[in-house]
Amino acid sequence: MSDTSQKIYKAGEIILRQGDPGLAAYILDRGRVEISVLKPDGTTEKLGTRGPGSMIGEMSLIDKAPRTASVTALEECELLEITAEDFERRLSGADPVLKMTIQVIMARYRDILAREQGERAAVPKTETLEKAYLVQSEALGAIKIANDFKEALERRDIMLHYQPIIDLRSGAIAGFEALMRWNHPEKGFIPPGVFIPVIEDNGLIIPATHWALDEALSALKRITKSIAGHDHLFMSVNFASQDFCMYNFLDGVMKALHTHDVKPGRLHLEITERVLMGQPDVTQQTLEKCREAGMMISIDDFGTGYSSLSYLHRFPISTLKIDRSFVKDMTSDKGAMELVKSILNLSHNMKMDIIAEGVETREDAVILKSLGCEMAQGYHFAKPMSEADIIALLPTWKNTDI
Ligand code: C2E
Ligand code: CA
Ligand code: CA
Repeated sequence: MSDTSQKIYKAGEIILRQGDPGLAAYILDRGRVEISVLKPDGTTEKLGTRGPGSMIGEMSLIDKAPRTASVTALEECELLEITAEDFERRLSGADPVLKMTIQVIMARYRDILAREQGERAAVPKTETLEKAYLVQSEALGAIKIANDFKEALERRDIMLHYQPIIDLRSGAIAGFEALMRWNHPEKGFIPPGVFIPVIEDNGLIIPATHWALDEALSALKRITKSIAGHDHLFMSVNFASQDFCMYNFLDGVMKALHTHDVKPGRLHLEITERVLMGQPDVTQQTLEKCREAGMMISIDDFGTGYSSLSYLHRFPISTLKIDRSFVKDMTSDKGAMELVKSILNLSHNMKMDIIAEGVETREDAVILKSLGCEMAQGYHFAKPMSEADIIALLPTWKNTDI
């Protein structure tokens, strides 16, 4: 689906009118336009012309303030429209530093223009300023988190917790998901939902994943050694897109498996749909090699990402993890229930296993089991916990506990 829509203007038509609310910017694809301003004394001043490739009305994308100039088509023009809404959506997904930079530059640009034109209308409203401060503090926060994380990783302030994943057929623990925990010396616990996106943006995720993989596999070895008859337990580790850009990804993973003497089949690589779509060709090749080596591949947060299912058979996927949002609403929302059922059918037809995420009640667990869902994970069974707590839990675990 395209974000931009195309518009044609005839010669002489006004594209943007000074004073009108600014709700979109345009990229001039074909034709020429003239930019002019109406001065307080009633005269019009021509500011210049623009040709193909230029952008007009871009400031409105930031503050939606009224147009400070008019733009008229000098000949038939074709324009691509970028609405403020499209832009906001793109910006909200952008790196906070990038976001702040764009907003600061745009605000300065408007300031200079306002001074030149002697206009007060272009001064940002309080609401805009508040928004700018919010973005600024978010950007500063991101920079601080990034700096602190580097140190934390070196100082080992980062640790892993492990959440049991339950086989619904037997009630036994089948494996664990390794989840990163950061206990900041001053700020206290920082949730992974906050720091993971930051370290994904600045590349620190690569050493972080490297560390997590190594730590999770050595913990799996220790956990297995602590109790007899648990050699089958698997460890699921979360990976980000950048991890797959490493040319020696497979070598790194194989080395970690070898170092900790863990069979590849006991490692689940957990990735989101976003990772698959990022660099589909490279990712496909890497995942195929991992699968050939015996590792399992799980799609995390399944159902929340891309609507296209065509990638499912393109990649060698072993397990789908149904996102918590569907499981949570399953009993109250018929649509969510249908979705869970469809995902289960789909995965079974494609010979994939399912892990339901975020199972918080016994009722959910019973329904999922009756629908043929193989595995589940959630607070109803166990929260993520330290390695020591896992080692204490295993001998007391009751298999009928659903
Ligand atoms: P995720 O991969 O979807 O992990 C599952 C999240 O759901 C975890 O949050 C877990 O604590 C939480 N959860 C589990 N059961 C329940 C439940 O029954 N109810 C509710 N409300 N939540 C439940 P957590 O640990 O805060 O992690 C958040 C996200 O941070 C993860 O979501 C994952 O995207 C990311 N993350 C965590 N550790 C790592 C890591 O080592 N590497 C990468 N790349 N991402 C990580
Ligand atoms: Ca996960
Ligand atoms: Ca998930």
